[in-house]
Amino acid sequence: MIIVMKSNSTEENIKNIVQNLENCGLKAHISKGEAITIIGVVGNKNIFLERNPQLMPGVEKIVHVSESYKLANKKFHPDPSVIDLGSVKIGGDSFVIMAGPCAVESREQMIETAEAVLSGGAQILRGGAYKPRTSPYSFQGLEVEGLKYMAEARNKTGLKVISEVTSKEAIEAVAGYVDIIQIGARNMQNFELLKAAGKTNIPVLLKRGMCATIDEWLNAAEYIMSEGNENVILCERGIRTYETSTRNTLDLSAVPVIKSKSHLPVIVDPSHATGVRDYVAPLAKAAVAAGADGLMIEVHPNPAIALSDGPQSLNPEDFRKLCKEIKPFIELMGRKF
Ligand code: PEP
Ligand code: MN
Repeated sequence: MIIVMKSNSTEENIKNIVQNLENCGLKAHISKGEAITIIGVVGNKNIFLERNPQLMPGVEKIVHVSESYKLANKKFHPDPSVIDLGSVKIGGDSFVIMAGPCAVESREQMIETAEAVLSGGAQILRGGAYKPRTSPYSFQGLEVEGLKYMAEARNKTGLKVISEVTSKEAIEAVAGYVDIIQIGARNMQNFELLKAAGKTNIPVLLKRGMCATIDEWLNAAEYIMSEGNENVILCERGIRTYETSTRNTLDLSAVPVIKSKSHLPVIVDPSHATGVRDYVAPLAKAAVAAGADGLMIEVHPNPAIALSDGPQSLNPEDFRKLCKEIKPFIELMGRKF
């Protein structure tokens, strides 16, 4: 349920309602827009409605939210959310690029990649230290040693850092090293992991599961948010279809659909969506035009010897070229980059 306040409602009116909701065991989420204030309510609202059969002072109307996700719902928070990483903002009128190797492989590889992606215009360095590999025999990641290389690259370049977590233990390990925790496609419905990420105060990038509907994805975001961490960024990375020319099928329609259903920022990962280096740039441009808030791009100093996802990784030169090519698209969309 959401309570829409009148434009001339007072702070006192809002305080009164919040108190009343709390007395009924409900949680109130206040969203102050330019024109109106909305109070989103989570929990069983029946007691509140029985105790207050008339609209309380200052209330314009009460709207029932039929979707099972509430905090992630645009009805709860009509303005787009902006995730604030200090010098970097995600959402609103900003545009961000997260770039880096699939897996952290060595100190030299991370420093070299960080400098390359910084020179292209990326604001965030990606790199997997805990790798969720399809085969147990593939490289599984350097874990804490990898996180240390990422932190060193951050200190050297000033880039923000994002890395994936695959377990609750990994969350504890990465917490001191990253600016954003990534939850990958394979863990989108690992509810214990989502809840654990929700108990931190570190922003979370939640990738769409490869077979997940948009509603399931938003409910996964709700798991994180309902634990108190509302700094969630969504990432479309392609879904499984019958098509085999690409690794996955990039569902670009997810971008406007998310924009209509949620206030959370959404970024696009054309690297995992296509699995093919040559298709990354065209889909990156399309993602910008579709209204994405950013991109995640895999970059490796030498993709031919990458321990993971080499065929979809760009080399530094191709990455810089891509950034140059997409700049006019970003500007056309009225975004700051
Ligand atoms: C990744 O970003 O490193 C990754 C494993 O991607 P996804 O979860 O989208 O497969
Ligand atoms: Mn990868």
